[in-house]
Amino acid sequence: MRPSLLDPLFAALTVLPGTGPKLEKLYRRLFDRGEDMPARVVDLLFHLPTGTIDRRSRPKLRDVVPGSVVTVAVTIDRHRPPPPNRPRVPYQVYASDDTGDLVLTFFHAKRDYLEKLLPVGEHRTVSGTTALYDGILQMVHPDRVVSDEELHKLPLVEPVYPLTEGLSLNVVRKAAEAALTKVPKLPEWQDEAWLKRNDFPAFADALNALHHPAEPTAVMPETPAWSRLAYDEFLAGQLALGLVRQHQKSLPGRGSSGEGLLRAKVIKALPYALTPSQGRAVDDIVTDLARPQRMIRLLQGDVGSGKTVVALMAAATVIEAGRQAALMAPTEILARQHLATIAPLAEKAGIRVAVLTGRERGKERDETLQRLAIGELDLVVGTHALFQDDVAFRDLALAIIDEQHRFGVHQRLALARKGEAVDMLVLTATPIPRTLVLTYFGDMEISELREKPAGRQPIDTRTIPLDRLNEVVAAVGRALNEGKRAYWVCPLVAESETSDLAAAEDRFADLKKHFGAKVDIVHGQMKGADKDRAMARFSAGETQLLVATTVIEVGVDVPAATVMVIEHAERFGLAQLHQLRGRIGRGRDRSTCLLLYRAPLGETAKARLAIMRDTEDGFRIAEEDLRLRGEGDLLGTKQSGIPGFRIARIEVHGKLIPAARDDAALILSRDPHLASPRGEALRHLLYLFERDEAIRLLRAG
Ligand code: ADP
Ligand code: MG
Repeated sequence: MRPSLLDPLFAALTVLPGTGPKLEKLYRRLFDRGEDMPARVVDLLFHLPTGTIDRRSRPKLRDVVPGSVVTVAVTIDRHRPPPPNRPRVPYQVYASDDTGDLVLTFFHAKRDYLEKLLPVGEHRTVSGTTALYDGILQMVHPDRVVSDEELHKLPLVEPVYPLTEGLSLNVVRKAAEAALTKVPKLPEWQDEAWLKRNDFPAFADALNALHHPAEPTAVMPETPAWSRLAYDEFLAGQLALGLVRQHQKSLPGRGSSGEGLLRAKVIKALPYALTPSQGRAVDDIVTDLARPQRMIRLLQGDVGSGKTVVALMAAATVIEAGRQAALMAPTEILARQHLATIAPLAEKAGIRVAVLTGRERGKERDETLQRLAIGELDLVVGTHALFQDDVAFRDLALAIIDEQHRFGVHQRLALARKGEAVDMLVLTATPIPRTLVLTYFGDMEISELREKPAGRQPIDTRTIPLDRLNEVVAAVGRALNEGKRAYWVCPLVAESETSDLAAAEDRFADLKKHFGAKVDIVHGQMKGADKDRAMARFSAGETQLLVATTVIEVGVDVPAATVMVIEHAERFGLAQLHQLRGRIGRGRDRSTCLLLYRAPLGETAKARLAIMRDTEDGFRIAEEDLRLRGEGDLLGTKQSGIPGFRIARIEVHGKLIPAARDDAALILSRDPHLASPRGEALRHLLYLFERDEAIRLLRAG
């Protein structure tokens, strides 16, 4: 149960004065809350300002620079209401100081209201944006009007918040003000010495400092106040991950070990030797699997680094122990690709494999399910279809999940629940910078495949403006004549799949004119079997140029393909370009990647393409990507449902993550049940950042 101390923070926003159900709906939108998820006080408190309006400039009227925000002390001289029946003419109030005049302009104003607000003959301090109209200094709808008595209440630096249509800055500001008064006195959950060392204020003080900026720089993410809250958020996250892990470790696992005979058979079937890092990864996994605890290991490896065979070795380990394994891929194409790599090796090693995707139906599917349930299959390769209700295993021991960021956590767990004490191996081809690995996966064990299999040639990458398209087509034509195989990736038009497709189809028609039957197309809206056929024809060399939308992004493996053209490369993210380029350079022949862009390029796009030209190191590319655009969509978090951060900005605060991680580890080693006074305080933190599922685990364990 949530500590009652936090109740005021989790109350619906409608508890704030002036915030009715109508406004509350707008706040839901602002905070990205779901339809039936009310906006709460805490959401508003965590909605931090992005800037300020600085009202500290208090010039005489003579010195006002039109266009600037100023605060000026004036005397009200006279009112000029619009003529009767002409409501569109603005209501004007004339004011002055001893150096000049100012006209205050109001549209659709109520006369009574303005006469009360700005009584003729009195002093007022007004603040707002000035402008020059017809040579006269004006202020349209002053933001603030105060009398001399109220002058001390005028905030000279006001926070600016991200808004949504229908919510004005003043409304949000007032609400934030009211929300601040709801912050209770909370026990400190951070280590005092750590706070001191970093100059971090207390939680409530930090919120105050940001929502009540004393000066414009007070709302910068670099401030101790913001950093404190970011650290809170990181610590909550790390603690939650730590608790989950602690819980998982406390559950009985089942050691799967054997003499490694089956692995030896797989190795014997391989037409190549494992790279040193593949060997190390296999050792790591075998050691994990033999332990009576559950494995949660991340196998990180750049595209083409050979993760599939490592996954197969892992599967072989549990299969030798008489149990089953499942390999889940995010797309149909990928699942089939894995199967194609695995099946011949498995057959030689005597491993029984089947595939299960949305495409298997009827008798075929029934038969596979039947064989899985009675243990006649050792390994099943598939897609989401694997965690449907009627899929049952005789004894699932290992779940291998490829391209993990495309699956939500609950999907991972759904697969794990199909067995008893299921070990988990997660494969990711997106090289994730260390800091992010920590954030998203906590102290998940990691194996890295850093070197590419031997014999790979570097890829020659060039950037070319789109107006040289003809030359590119000619060059591709020469390559095709030499028997080479090429991909042609079409621009990504984010808004709609149909326009993506139209672009690809246009290009296909165009290239067909040049190269006839050598050209084929594959895209996301094709039927599965048609996609497979297109891939198979290309793989077999029956077609040589494959026009594609980004469906080929992940995992597709045709080692003979050595040319890749990416149209409108400037529209792709770095990670995506890297993934795409990873489709070539997989065989022994030299590969070329042409990045076509529409000139002129913006600075960031220029930098991105330059990085692609300079390096093939996925880890470096990932780091650069992070640097260039912040955490952004690097992990595809938007699609995956991995929650991003509410307060922390990875680019600014990311360096605090290792500390938060160590902190969490130390806390849990000393106080695994969060029972000490600090532990109690930390429970508040977990609730505040809604990591309370983790607390439930404490009770369950
Ligand atoms: P990814 O890590 O992108 O999933 P894959 O597992 O698809 O990479 O492997 C890419 C290609 O490299 C496959 O054709 C595979 O057979 C091959 N491969 C894997 N390991 C080695 C190795 N040690 N030596 C040579 N080729 C390898
Ligand atoms: Mg792969």
